Amino acid sequence: MTDRLVLVINCGSSSLKFALLGEADRTPVLSGLAERLGTAEGVLNWKAGDIREQVLIADGTHRSAMAELLPLITRFAQQPLAAVGHRIVHGGEHFTGASVIDDEVIQAIKDSSTLAPLHNPAQLTGINEAMRVFEDIPHIAIFDTAFHQSMPPHAYRYALPEYLYTEHSVRRYGFHGTSHRYVSRQASLLMGMEPGHGAWLTAHLGNGCSTCAVLDGRSLDTSMGLTPLEGLVMGTRSGDVDPNLHSHLARNLGWDLERIDNMLNRESGLLGLSGLSNDMRTLVAARADGHAGASLAIDVFCYRLARSLAGLAVALPRLDGLIFTGGIGENSPLVRELTVRHLALFGLAIDPAANATPPGNPARQIQAEHSPAILVIPTDEERQIAEECLALLDFTATQSAEQEA
Ligand code: ADP
Repeated sequence: MTDRLVLVINCGSSSLKFALLGEADRTPVLSGLAERLGTAEGVLNWKAGDIREQVLIADGTHRSAMAELLPLITRFAQQPLAAVGHRIVHGGEHFTGASVIDDEVIQAIKDSSTLAPLHNPAQLTGINEAMRVFEDIPHIAIFDTAFHQSMPPHAYRYALPEYLYTEHSVRRYGFHGTSHRYVSRQASLLMGMEPGHGAWLTAHLGNGCSTCAVLDGRSLDTSMGLTPLEGLVMGTRSGDVDPNLHSHLARNLGWDLERIDNMLNRESGLLGLSGLSNDMRTLVAARADGHAGASLAIDVFCYRLARSLAGLAVALPRLDGLIFTGGIGENSPLVRELTVRHLALFGLAIDPAANATPPGNPARQIQAEHSPAILVIPTDEERQIAEECLALLDFTATQSAEQEA
């Protein structure tokens, strides 16, 4: 089989992240990040094998950044691209899986923009610019929300008046779907089960954090909701607070919506609690030096995480394993240890030696004897996106072959 190539693009309002992946390669052929777009200091850093380079994006536009990719792809790709995969944050209720991008899909992404006003418009820019540069190649959208479209109504509905759902799409959507899907599948492989099978609790802990209950490759519930603010304590996001907090702050402190929104999304979480940093590495080091704020932030983070996992457990008929992933989940033995300590009721316990992070940080089991499985699985959202693109291409090829037959 030829090793098909997929270019994966993740476009933010001021950034453009990309990776060129071969079907059979474990590491990307080429990857990079353009940052500070929208300013005069736009810059693109890329690497391919041992080669690393920086290119200035003089006019700081997404268009120029995307144009820089073309000669790079031509230089490092051994064959034409099979697809360009676009990570899209919000697909509303329109999408349950990967979709080839056409006018209808673009319109649906636009329609979902009220639900992700910061992300979807930037990602549409990425699609437009990529389609100009990489013509005549299928462009495929992969939605963070799609994996969670399998949630039942009792998990995705808020106890709010029905018209807010039917007329204004107010419901729980969930995010990080690509990562939850990837690590739960990897867990089934690691445990020698049928690929994609099993009953898992997953904790994706990066700058954004969410948990998910996955049964046989389907999300049954997750901690994020209408927006990625719901649920866990995150780097700068509060996670769950009393829904009356808004009115309390407005009435008593005279804060307007923008100020409250900013505080909950950018000044809270680990940063707000610690008064020090949103970065878990910094907090772990500060805790060891006796910093009380850092210590409290980590304690609240782990307790709330355990509480979320315990809550999601009701969605599953049994537990085949608890999975940690994301920068914190993969790299912090302390967070894993403190979190699992709160889950003794489930018989979960960690083996301290296995919990220490080994060189190369491979996927592995870290539970103590007699405990249900506890797994550390490095996530790979780009790989998952590439695989979903190729699976969709294979599916459409089979369908058209059947129609011709
Ligand atoms: P993003 O959500 O932006 O992709 P990552 O998944 O890279 O973020 O996770 C970033 C988080 O992982 C940061 O809080 C960082 O401090 C944390 N992290 C990375 N390495 C370690 C480590 N060795 N110990 C504790 N936390 C770590």
